[in-house]
Amino acid sequence: MPLQLLLFIDERSSSQEHIQGIKSYLQALKDDYPFELQMINVAEQPHLAEHFRLVATPALVKITPTPRQTIAGTNLVAQLEQSWPSWVESAQQESSEEAEDASSTNESVTYSTELIRLSDEIFRLKQENQELNEQIKFKDQVLAMLAHDLRNPLTAASIAMETLELTDQNPDPQRVEKIKKQIFKQAQTQFRIMNRMITDILQTARGKNAELQIHPQKLNLQTLGNDILEQFEETFARKSLQLKKDLPQDVPDAHADQELIRQVWVNLLDNAVKYTPDEGTIKVSILHRTSQKIQVTVCDDGPGIPPEQREQIFEGHVRLKRDEAKEGYGLGLSLCRQVVRAHYGQIWVDSDANRGSCFHFTLPVY
Ligand code: ADP
Repeated sequence: MPLQLLLFIDERSSSQEHIQGIKSYLQALKDDYPFELQMINVAEQPHLAEHFRLVATPALVKITPTPRQTIAGTNLVAQLEQSWPSWVESAQQESSEEAEDASSTNESVTYSTELIRLSDEIFRLKQENQELNEQIKFKDQVLAMLAHDLRNPLTAASIAMETLELTDQNPDPQRVEKIKKQIFKQAQTQFRIMNRMITDILQTARGKNAELQIHPQKLNLQTLGNDILEQFEETFARKSLQLKKDLPQDVPDAHADQELIRQVWVNLLDNAVKYTPDEGTIKVSILHRTSQKIQVTVCDDGPGIPPEQREQIFEGHVRLKRDEAKEGYGLGLSLCRQVVRAHYGQIWVDSDANRGSCFHFTLPVY
């Protein structure tokens, strides 16, 4: 089997000497071991240079026998001198293995490049297919999670209706009137909650592609959490903050975009560090909320968030007056919300006045 080589060249005058050098060197090697050489001008076939991920020319690529190897740069002759014996050895080995299959020795360089292009294409399509399958699985998980979430207010509303039926049996008309009012109010609240949830879902589905491309995959939150907290060790130490973590092993994997969720988690920890006084405590935990949903929580014992601003701080460019002196743009939490919403999850804050805040977000399970 001959070696099959591609020599990538360019037209820069500074390269010509090197190109000439490697050509003559190759010419001399013809007697040592047979090879097929194809010259490729990168200006004419940039896609091939791209395909072989070349960063410099001249470059010499050995395409068969596999594995593919590339040497590039100005000292090409010296590099080839080093690689040549092993290339020849691998070709000889391959020849003895395929001695019976005469046709394989007739493969031309062009044929090989086409083969490589096709196998690359197959690889790309396989990846695309995998990505699409992930998206379908993600949608399925999200659907299951949303159906589960919608069932709660629905159940509460139906219980209210059933109770209404029973009130008619009560002999005291004044009492019946009072109970009816309460039940209507309760049902109305639950319908409003459902309506809000459906609006959120529709908005997310519509805005998702335009605003944020997410690539949800199987994500182990315990590993991610430990990884992030390791990065924070020094930061915590600088403010003598104590960390309490509860990242149980038996929490199922989430279906989420690792890098975006990392960003959300880091943002929440950045805030916890920023707004917690020295020697405070930060708690990080993961909780398997329902069979469809996982919750991540970051708590601190900083100044907390007043009730009237617990929703606003997620809206973007909103910073509490008391924190204006601290650096920041009031964008972190709105980005967090955008990312979590793209996963059809929720993000919110609980806070006791002066006793710190707990930020929570949820994600669908894998
Ligand atoms: P930034 O921190 O850059 O101002 P964020 O969007 O992350 O922007 O936060 C918005 C505002 O919410 C902050 O300015 C701060 O007033 C308040 N906030 C966020 N996290 C906390 C926290 N852990 N404790 C107290 N206040 C917080």
